[in-house]
Amino acid sequence: MGKTTGFLEIDRQDRKYLPASDRIRNYKEFVIPLGEKAVRDQASRCMDCGIPYCHNGCPVNNQIPDWNDLVYNDNWAEALRNLHSTNNFPEFTGRICPAPCEASCTLNLTEAPVTIKTIECAIVDRGWAEGWIVPQIAPAKTGKRVAVVGGGPAGLACAQQLARAGHDVHLYEKNAKAGGLLRYGIPDFKMEKHTIDRRIKQMAAEGVTFHYNANIGVTQKAAELVAEFDAVVLTGGAEKPRDLPVEGRNLSGVHFAMEFLPQQNRRNSDEPLMNVEPILAGGKHVVVIGGGDTGSDCIGTSFRQGAVSVTQLEIMPTPPDKENKLLTWPDWPLKMRTSSSQAEGATRDFAVMTRRIIGDAGKVKAIECVRVDDKMQAIEGSNFELKADLVLLAMGFVSPVHEGMLTELDVEIDKRGNVAADTATYKSSCDKVFSAGDMRRGQSLVVWAIREGRQAAREVDFFLMGETLLPR
Ligand SMILES: Cc1cc2nc3c(=O)[nH]c(=O)nc-3n(C[C@H](O)[C@H](O)[C@H](O)COP(=O)(O)OP(=O)(O)OC[C@H]3O[C@@H](n4cnc5c(N)ncnc54)[C@H](O)[C@@H]3O)c2cc1C
Ligand code: SF4
Repeated sequence: MGKTTGFLEIDRQDRKYLPASDRIRNYKEFVIPLGEKAVRDQASRCMDCGIPYCHNGCPVNNQIPDWNDLVYNDNWAEALRNLHSTNNFPEFTGRICPAPCEASCTLNLTEAPVTIKTIECAIVDRGWAEGWIVPQIAPAKTGKRVAVVGGGPAGLACAQQLARAGHDVHLYEKNAKAGGLLRYGIPDFKMEKHTIDRRIKQMAAEGVTFHYNANIGVTQKAAELVAEFDAVVLTGGAEKPRDLPVEGRNLSGVHFAMEFLPQQNRRNSDEPLMNVEPILAGGKHVVVIGGGDTGSDCIGTSFRQGAVSVTQLEIMPTPPDKENKLLTWPDWPLKMRTSSSQAEGATRDFAVMTRRIIGDAGKVKAIECVRVDDKMQAIEGSNFELKADLVLLAMGFVSPVHEGMLTELDVEIDKRGNVAADTATYKSSCDKVFSAGDMRRGQSLVVWAIREGRQAAREVDFFLMGETLLPR
């Protein structure tokens, strides 16, 4: 603990955003980094708690008090080394993680947690700027070959760990570029994609071979990989969206969020749209059904495209403004949160269910909703209509896609529809086939995907070598 009285002397100060009126004019990141002194001051607020709840609240168990101390003492390079010892890609989490560590921080008991995410991002951004982040090439090769299917954060973390352990790693990705939902789901304004590109470059230099446009189980048999490689890791994500089976679902102008969002990400990076009909919100009244992260990303993207209005509907009741700390801390609390996209001017409504989608000449023109009680039962007489030219369904994801790779491998599926594999071994029911990330745990977060990719890599290394030095 660098400064014993830091938390008493210094107030919490976090990164600010560019004004909404400026940021919605483009797709660039809009979070303004804190200056070096401010980051050091914020790091000095850390109390180096006897039980660091932040460390436990973080899914990759970042050693938060340690790097807070290193930043306060101006040892940024060592802070970066420490941060990388638990997290392959802190610049991703430093931008888009909801930061469960901050909810767990002891100082959150007074609503002023250490600005952990901001400090994390400052350490790794400085590392890139200073040229400290370079390929870590394995000193010796093992002669073992591993295929990783899926280039999202789980697959990338897994591939990087295995390459650094000396294995010959081949990553197969069905899209034209790697990154998974980081690249095609999460909008550029939350994370610009050059952050992924430089990691791919680093990984390629470390010996990972990337195979793009390779849809395993469709363009290439999964069985070929199983036969050719010593181990195969399935990190294909949870890509099956939850649908809304109501009248009017098939009208033109009603789309899944993940039909809409990847198009804009592709436009931003001059990648072709894959011969699909363009979906654009410009000049339209947009209704987003679903109140989570994906819904927020639809809002921010719609505003940037020039939507006339955006309304977001959530079936759950309005959450409380503040949590009861004594009941919830150090766990993640249910409370009202307003994302940067929602703050750009969306109208939000809670405890609302969609009854039907109304069309005219095959095109959506409105939706009919009804209010629900706390048991999610429709309240009679509370029906209302909302004008809608574009309806985006952002109600989460039910499971991985089974057709193709998983069906071909005949891998066991658990009760929730995910690939069955435990977190002790990450082994699936198929010999030498492992699974991690959303494909194994279901729809989750980037930080959980990184954790699972790292842990699965360790288990694969142990399976191949009978011993492992990779961390869990
Ligand atoms: C719109 C949106 C916004 C989100 N925002 C956030 C956020 O702000 N913060 C956060 O922490 N989490 C967020 N999430 C969740 C987070 O993105 C995921 O939990 C995380 O990306 C899961 O990582 P993954 O590697 O397991 O899977 P994915 O990121 O889904 O990657 C899976 C990859 O596998 C590929 N693939 C699938 N099947 C095959 C196959 N048969 N052959 C070859 N390749 C295949 C896919 O193309 C994809 O590239 C968001 C999710 C969405 C949809
Ligand atoms: S819980 Fe908060 S104050 Fe305590 S060690 Fe972690 S970051 Fe520091």
